[in-house]
Amino acid sequence: MTKPYQRPSGDEPAWWFICSAGELILTEHALPPHGRKDDLPLPDIDEYQVVWLGELRERSCYLVVADLNDDAFAALGDFSSLRALIDAQDDELFMMAARAKQVTEFLTTHRYCGRCGTRMQAVDWELAMQCHACQHRCYPRISPCIIVAIRKGDQILLARGERHRPGLYSVLAGFVEAGENLEQTVAREVMEEAGIKVKNVQYLCSQPWPFPNSLMMGFTAEWAEGDLHFDPFELEDGGWYRFDALPDIPQQGTIANKLIHAVKKQIDRESGAGD
Ligand SMILES: [Zn+2]
Repeated sequence: MTKPYQRPSGDEPAWWFICSAGELILTEHALPPHGRKDDLPLPDIDEYQVVWLGELRERSCYLVVADLNDDAFAALGDFSSLRALIDAQDDELFMMAARAKQVTEFLTTHRYCGRCGTRMQAVDWELAMQCHACQHRCYPRISPCIIVAIRKGDQILLARGERHRPGLYSVLAGFVEAGENLEQTVAREVMEEAGIKVKNVQYLCSQPWPFPNSLMMGFTAEWAEGDLHFDPFELEDGGWYRFDALPDIPQQGTIANKLIHAVKKQIDRESGAGD
């Protein structure tokens, strides 16, 4: 089995995820660098923390944890936001980049033990940090979130928070709290944010969302009762929208977009069946 800290050989063609503080190096083609270590203008990577992340299109993917101010990688490209990769509509690549970003976040925030303060060391056979003084072991943190598209007849509930870019409306989302199951999170978040009850909650799909470490679990649901009352601390505007009059919605490649289209398909199917 491949281990997280196996070293890349010089002649192995690989993808290079060079990450720092939430950004990664992208080439002029908006891709992570790809090629043999010996052929690329890489610095001596033995000086860096390197982690084998997995395979993308039958090539190894290596994470190199860099410093944003380090210009040793400048010949390869520029540090860029992962959001650039959502535009590329390449799910596999985005998910590997998400993994690279989250592993970087993990390694750079677990240098010391949270229990006793001793310097931690990487476990060599799995991706974990170990404190040899008190045996506390940490794994990359993943924060589960629900995201839910709610319909009422032929309308969908969309709302916007202050953090959304101007004009953008999306479906509701929120973090799972300790001790909650996903069904409870959906019911609580929808009630807290929009003041309504929902029924027929169905799981649809999930997406890692590395800003910084969410796992979005996507549901569809139907309005059951109540009038909309938005929580002003979370949402500044929203309402029920028909599909022929949608505002700006999240771009393709996001789970929000996928859920909105799933609801549209449900409505289309029903209206088709009624013809
Ligand atoms: Zn400790």
